[in-house]
Amino acid sequence: MTAQVEFRGLRRVYGKTVALDGFDLTIEPGEFVALLGPSGCGKTTALRCVAGFEQPDEGAVLLDGKDITKVPANKRDAGMVFQSYSLFPNLNALDNVSFGLRVRKVNVAKRRAKAQELLELVGLPTHGDRFPHQLSGGQQQRVALARALALEPAVLLLDEPLSALDAKVRVSLREEIRRLQLDLGITTIFVTHDQEEALSIADRVAVLQHGKLEQVGAPAEVYDRPSTPFVAEFVGTMNHLPGRVSGDQVTVLGQLLPLDGQAPGLDVDVLVRPEAVQITPTEDGRAEIIAASFRGASVRLRVALDGGEVVADVPGHEAVRLGPGTKVAVRLVERPVLVAGRTAAAPVPAASEPADVA
Ligand code: ATP
Repeated sequence: MTAQVEFRGLRRVYGKTVALDGFDLTIEPGEFVALLGPSGCGKTTALRCVAGFEQPDEGAVLLDGKDITKVPANKRDAGMVFQSYSLFPNLNALDNVSFGLRVRKVNVAKRRAKAQELLELVGLPTHGDRFPHQLSGGQQQRVALARALALEPAVLLLDEPLSALDAKVRVSLREEIRRLQLDLGITTIFVTHDQEEALSIADRVAVLQHGKLEQVGAPAEVYDRPSTPFVAEFVGTMNHLPGRVSGDQVTVLGQLLPLDGQAPGLDVDVLVRPEAVQITPTEDGRAEIIAASFRGASVRLRVALDGGEVVADVPGHEAVRLGPGTKVAVRLVERPVLVAGRTAAAPVPAASEPADVA
């Protein structure tokens, strides 16, 4: 009940819209991969090509090395859960789950037992006789998940299954999906445009842009070592600070930091995560806190600095001293930084000024 999935040079065009443009990705058996990217980047189209609801114009989809591009959807070994609730409204939960088994002519006793087992697996042991309108959104998605698993597919395809749910249910259900997936060992492709969701649930995150793979890697890799400015920007918040390159180092906010990779020129944007920005209150600081927003364990600060702005995440206990209007010094954590070509949007402080009197 698991398989390798390979997207090989997939291209799909709708009129003038290129939905997929040479999309390549291999997903190993039992792996949980999130397809992440902005709206319209081709995530759903890629998923539908695996399900068989969509035919690529070029390229192939392989399951365990076998080309399934031309295999009809009902002959593919894949179960799918959609964003909006797609249960049959006139069937109760048990019958929804056992629907595919009925189509396959499994006898009543067997399919009812299997459906009940699956409802138990998704935490709804006593909801079998409820109709979709008698279930909450989260419960409907659990039933949809059970239905997708009923035929014991080799691949589970999840198309933004959590996006219609409220924040708390979304987090608890994603944890359950992950637990279930690990228990079953089923290869899973999860489409989302929510980077936090992708990073928290997947073995690997595949970031797409304009129908192409930008980067694929473990969550920490994609977050800490984005291979392109697009990935850096899309996966989490990123500061762009002006920097000047010298050799394999770059001067930013008066600090000299090692470069991570090649610089595209001498004047660059230095990309820095909010948690790598250190903020210290100081009477004569030239930077000033504009806003502080509470985020649970941390507080996100917006700091005005030499005509620009920096975003910093500081631990909650430190933030007591850091209200709007506080004068502060800004320093960066000493570690290699990624740089990109200079954009007009970058603030322009004098790069040579020492940071701790900024
Ligand atoms: P979203 O997060 O908004 O669902 P996505 O990354 O899943 O986006 P796709 O649904 O794969 O993107 O769509 C990619 C592009 O192809 C979009 O520009 C979309 O408008 C277009 N597209 C998708 N399906 C069709 C279709 N059946 N007919 C015409 N255009 C389509």
